[in-house]
Amino acid sequence: MSTETEFTSRNIPLPIQREVRQRCGFGCVVCGMPLYEYEHMEEWAEVKRHVADEITLLCDQHHREKTAGLLPKEVVAYANSDPFNLRKGASKPYNLHFAGKTAEIVVGGNSFTCEDHGYGTAMVPLSVDGTPLIGLVLTDGHLLLNLVVFDECNVPILHIKNNQLLYSIEPWDIQLVGKKLTVREAARKILIEIEFMPPNKVIINKGRFLRNGVEVLIRPSNILVTNNNTLISGCRAHNCFGGLILGYHEKPIGGFMSISGISRYLGSRTEALKFEKESMSKFELEETQSV
Ligand SMILES: [Zn+2]
Repeated sequence: MSTETEFTSRNIPLPIQREVRQRCGFGCVVCGMPLYEYEHMEEWAEVKRHVADEITLLCDQHHREKTAGLLPKEVVAYANSDPFNLRKGASKPYNLHFAGKTAEIVVGGNSFTCEDHGYGTAMVPLSVDGTPLIGLVLTDGHLLLNLVVFDECNVPILHIKNNQLLYSIEPWDIQLVGKKLTVREAARKILIEIEFMPPNKVIINKGRFLRNGVEVLIRPSNILVTNNNTLISGCRAHNCFGGLILGYHEKPIGGFMSISGISRYLGSRTEALKFEKESMSKFELEETQSV
């Protein structure tokens, strides 16, 4: 079903923009790039209306090619009928431009900072069962951000692997506007909101990190582990390898807060891991294909 609004304004109403994003798989329909513009496939001057089905997403390059006449209208229409990201099941990887010898990650108002001490300095602000959900590596002036967001079924839906941003098309809505990435589970329900502040800072003010039945909520001024009501606020960790380390870790990580025996929301850990392995392989397959 398509939302139709006749408007004299060129501004596309927000619900129509969202409908277009969902239909196009949150990326340029031609190449999958998560940075895009809304493009009326029919000439705006002629139609002067915003109909979701008549609007598509094009990245800057493909938009300019379309405007210049180098990318035919028919090719855009064809891509619109079979968007790149929907075909791949995941977005085209996008490289974040991080660099530097120092770094800061702010999670729910808690600050994690570190300096490059050589040999690939690492910092893991959040880890569950041996999986670093938020982490970074500083090495030779490179700053590599790593982050993974799972849904309730342990399926990874957002992955930043050494600065390379990649997302599945499963969530209800995904938007990269300016430096802010917002993933929504449903209307008005934010799964994660990340502000990238290159060259060397990342702020996570809202988020819901899930892993093997552990739930960590990020709010603007604190972190809450809902399984055992642990609240963390106002912490400043400097050159501390581990931050919040939850669950079982084969190689123990020294963190400012480690909780190994933690109650879970779903099944046993073995069940969860089995489930996760299946979903992980699916995602990695899609990821390889989309490179
Ligand atoms: Zn493109």
